Amino acid sequence: MALRYADPFNAPGNWLKGNLHTHTIHSDGRLTPEDHAERYRAAGYSFLAVTDHGRHVDTEALTRGGFTMVQGEELSVGLTGSGTPYHIVALGITEQLPFKEADQTVNPQTVVDYVNQVGGAAILAHPYWTGLTHGEAAALQGVAAVEAYNHVCELLNDRGDSLAHWDHLLTLGHHVNGVAVDDAHSRERENLPDDSFGGWVMVKAEDNSESSILGALRRGRFYSSSGPEIRRVEVTDGEITIQCSPARKIAFVSVPCLGVCYKDGGGVITEVSYKPGPRENYVRVQVTDMVGGRAWTNPIYVES
Ligand SMILES: [Zn+2]
Ligand SMILES: [Zn+2]
Repeated sequence: MALRYADPFNAPGNWLKGNLHTHTIHSDGRLTPEDHAERYRAAGYSFLAVTDHGRHVDTEALTRGGFTMVQGEELSVGLTGSGTPYHIVALGITEQLPFKEADQTVNPQTVVDYVNQVGGAAILAHPYWTGLTHGEAAALQGVAAVEAYNHVCELLNDRGDSLAHWDHLLTLGHHVNGVAVDDAHSRERENLPDDSFGGWVMVKAEDNSESSILGALRRGRFYSSSGPEIRRVEVTDGEITIQCSPARKIAFVSVPCLGVCYKDGGGVITEVSYKPGPRENYVRVQVTDMVGGRAWTNPIYVES
């Protein structure tokens, strides 16, 4: 049995914190791209993607001083069985996508294929919030990642967590990573806190350039978080060991053994090991801290 992991911890480079999903005044956000870049930079982020609805806003000029803008756009197309469109976030594009926003006749697969063709990365945005069935999510081929956690969807109506969709894809044998994002709009909504800084990726990239960040994302050299820090994942001899900031629970989520092995004894955990069984297809590790923040590794595939 061999374990295969796109290990960011032993990869060369530096850790860069980023948010991959943001809206500005150019669609339904309240702030300008400049405002967002300044806020995220001040909060310790190294990169940011502006992903306005149906519009690629060129933000390259805001890349400076070690802070990188990743080019992007979000497109809502097609029609799910529940009557909603699919939302696809395209990253690493250089021009606006040649599809009309909200066009129900456009097949989302056509959009994913186009994004891949032009060298970008397609992310399936908030499938739980959009009401996608697991089958509808699984029918899409070629997405680089699923939004395992979308912060504004969590704030709006507790539908930010698409872990079940992600696990369904992994159970079917798709090799797909999971990202956490803000989907920040910064609109003032009554009784809702700021929708920035609640979901992010920690990418191990060789440098701060957009191409290195996207390359590391495509290769899975990152983890996602809404709070905890994952300090190390060691994958050796059929055993996975994780070290993290103080946690109340560390879960190893896998199939087909459904081997959720977690420690939840009321104490603080910062390290735990797990030996996957020979029948497991994949294991992903999920950390929960004392205030409910979570962090997610990408899948570790079990090969017999
Ligand atoms: Zn969306
Ligand atoms: Zn969005």
